[in-house]
Amino acid sequence: MANSRQQAPAAGTEMGEKVEQFDAIIIGAGVTGLYQLYRLRELGLSVQVFEDGSGVGGTWYWNRYPGCRFDSESYTYGYSFSEELLQEWDWKEHFSGQPENERYLNYVADKFDLRRDIQFDARVSSAVYNEGEGRWHVQTEDGRRAAAQYLITAVGILSARYVPDFAGLDSYKGNWCHTARWPKEGMDLAGKRVGVIGTGATAVQLIPEIAKEVAHLTVFQRTANYCTPLRNGPIDPEWQRQIKASYPEIFQKCSETPTSFIHQFDPRSALEVSPEERLDQYERLWGEPGFKKWLSNFRDVMVPGEVNDDYSEFVRNKIRARVKDPVVAELLAPKDHPFGSKRIPCETGYYDVYNQDNVLLVDVREAPIERITPKGVKIRDAEYELDVIIFATGYDAVTGSLTGIDIQGEGGQSIKDKYAEGIRTYMGVQSAGFPNLFTVNSSGSGNYTRGAESIVEWVTECIGYMRENEFTRISASPQAEDEWVEYVAKGTEGTLRMKANSWFIGANIPGKARVSLTQPDSAPVYRAKRIEIAANGYEGFLLQ
Ligand SMILES: Cc1cc2nc3c(=O)[nH]c(=O)nc-3n(C[C@H](O)[C@H](O)[C@H](O)COP(=O)(O)OP(=O)(O)OC[C@H]3O[C@@H](n4cnc5c(N)ncnc54)[C@H](O)[C@@H]3O)c2cc1C
Repeated sequence: MANSRQQAPAAGTEMGEKVEQFDAIIIGAGVTGLYQLYRLRELGLSVQVFEDGSGVGGTWYWNRYPGCRFDSESYTYGYSFSEELLQEWDWKEHFSGQPENERYLNYVADKFDLRRDIQFDARVSSAVYNEGEGRWHVQTEDGRRAAAQYLITAVGILSARYVPDFAGLDSYKGNWCHTARWPKEGMDLAGKRVGVIGTGATAVQLIPEIAKEVAHLTVFQRTANYCTPLRNGPIDPEWQRQIKASYPEIFQKCSETPTSFIHQFDPRSALEVSPEERLDQYERLWGEPGFKKWLSNFRDVMVPGEVNDDYSEFVRNKIRARVKDPVVAELLAPKDHPFGSKRIPCETGYYDVYNQDNVLLVDVREAPIERITPKGVKIRDAEYELDVIIFATGYDAVTGSLTGIDIQGEGGQSIKDKYAEGIRTYMGVQSAGFPNLFTVNSSGSGNYTRGAESIVEWVTECIGYMRENEFTRISASPQAEDEWVEYVAKGTEGTLRMKANSWFIGANIPGKARVSLTQPDSAPVYRAKRIEIAANGYEGFLLQ
């Protein structure tokens, strides 16, 4: 196949502006976008990546808050596609921190010479499909323009940060920031009165770190979480040798588990064993690092019902044992949702912080934040005076990074309107009426890079297939999309994920439709479906 750099139309002009022409445009230079660039280049496509940030890394570029780190085992998260890369890179910790993760992605970008096709500080504001040309026209906020046959949105599932619309924020005289925009130069918190709003996974990583230096910390909690100990540690040389010698087995294992983590559920029910044996297993796994406590536990720990209730109480008791003040302990012990229905934060010293004299937990479920004042946070009859407010308030997950761009498909239909009643895709990768747009951020969760690699490879093969067979346009059929939307709704009904007000179902964003933002299949089943669809000539897609 000829290199399509020569086939792409020459640069054109739009309203006098230069429009660069490419075969493919990728939005986002995180784990997914970088790999998509690598693969499409390999296929011989001319590619341009637009990235809002000034560097590569996505999540690991933006989240510079103290304590930010993996809850995936580092060596299961990195890319698997290059043996050379696997052997060259030394992960230093079992759950490596943001600075090292960012260094890793920079190393990858340099090693594979990816930067030359990336424009940084380039936030895409619109992407409009020109039906006559069969090309996507993309514009950035600062006026850069480009067009391409294929558009791939690698914009992340947790990248559209969410700051609640509190009255009075403009009047606040102190410093504030969202954790996903932590300044590169850091925040000076030493000796200050600091407030953290939110107690999700990010806050749980952040709070123990900043509690070491602030004068006083006020934590505003709406929902208590089931946090489990991370038990991080350095990777010693012998471990390093073993990891490097066993990458094929590591990735094989990850490919067999439902969530692409390295942990496999115990196939037994907790009810098949004696109460003593059940507790022994809970305790043994509690002492292990990372997500093992739930992903290697009895299979019904993650199914609504008696065993999940039992495990939820086990975790509540672990929390109660850590926190000295029984009133605070009860506030920290979740009772409004079952274990596993929300993402489980991993903690290092989180609960111990609440035993410090200079830390105050404020329940904002009972009495919500009324407003931000020039001095701090106002709740009912109390005003909490703060020098700094940190919003650990999460993300408009999965769809927020897409609807934040004015994406218009056939007939000028916008993706924002299309998703108004909930996300609508076929297999997470395409939406009817948006030809040649691959929404590679809409399909995955779990141990992310494992899923991202597989979806990127599928998209790359799909584009390769189109070129070999001289198709120029692919779009999900409306019928396949309808069926998939219904399948997701039915398949997730009654599952643990639907039993909490979490970002997985859009419940953290006021007015957002409550539907499952992730699909119900295990990773191996989902992957197999995609392979089958491709083998059947892209069943459910319309090719022209
Ligand atoms: C704090 C935190 C910890 C996490 N820990 C883990 C973990 O341990 N294990 C795990 O598997 N997953 C984890 N995740 C999930 C994480 O998001 C994924 O692992 C992964 O980094 C996603 O990669 P991505 O490239 O798909 O998206 P992202 O890394 O989010 O990158 C998307 C990129 O798109 C850019 N972008 C978005 N919109 C635009 C636009 N309009 N114009 C230009 N650029 C745009 C963004 O700037 C960003 O750089 C974590 C997420 C967070 C927030």
